[in-house]
Amino acid sequence: MVAEQLEARGIDDPELLRAFATVERHAFVDGDEPYGDHALPVGSGQTISQPYVVARMTQIARPTEGWTDANILEIGTGSGYQAAILAEMGAKVTSIERHEGLAASARTRLRYAGYANVEVHVGDGTAGWAGAGPYRSILVTAGGPSVPQPLLEQLHRSGGRLVMPVGSREHQFLTLVERDGDDVRSTELEPVVFVPLIGQYGLVEEREV
Ligand code: SAH
Repeated sequence: MVAEQLEARGIDDPELLRAFATVERHAFVDGDEPYGDHALPVGSGQTISQPYVVARMTQIARPTEGWTDANILEIGTGSGYQAAILAEMGAKVTSIERHEGLAASARTRLRYAGYANVEVHVGDGTAGWAGAGPYRSILVTAGGPSVPQPLLEQLHRSGGRLVMPVGSREHQFLTLVERDGDDVRSTELEPVVFVPLIGQYGLVEEREV
């Protein structure tokens, strides 16, 4: 997976490659092909992105000072895999998940895999988690129409980085936001498809008719 899916596509940060080689993806996602080059279901109708997209997002979010002891916020815990990658690199991770069942399962998997540096909370992550901020980096792993204002406010004033899929329900662009004081600069990167970010500053839940 590391050689064929990550290195071959230009992921070259040794620290990141080491984390992907270390974290056991099969401890977080079930099924026959946990290392497959595709998105996978994680339960409650949600999916985790293919390994390359997780790596790419992590690469973009990298704090200027590096990951060690960096205070990081993740929105959308899902399986806990992305959080494990961040913790493996030495970050202190706060992760928010709106589905209680997913949060509980991710907590168990993270504890079992030995990652004590991750706190999983149940709630609407579009409001962020002010209590543990400000954050060096924020990774939003679900797609929404715009970056929720509370997340911008919880981003570190000098050089905070946020990465999020921004766009419609069907397709988004991975977007990098860099904060410098009250200045916020946004850069649109490649097209992606993520599950919707549901919440006060995101999308409304679609009801089946
Ligand atoms: N990062 C995850 C994959 C996330 S899938 C992993 O490594 O497995 C996106 C997740 O975001 C889903 O679990 C979904 O329930 C969650 N989500 C969507 N909107 C949310 C919100 N407002 N707050 C918290 N979690 C949310």
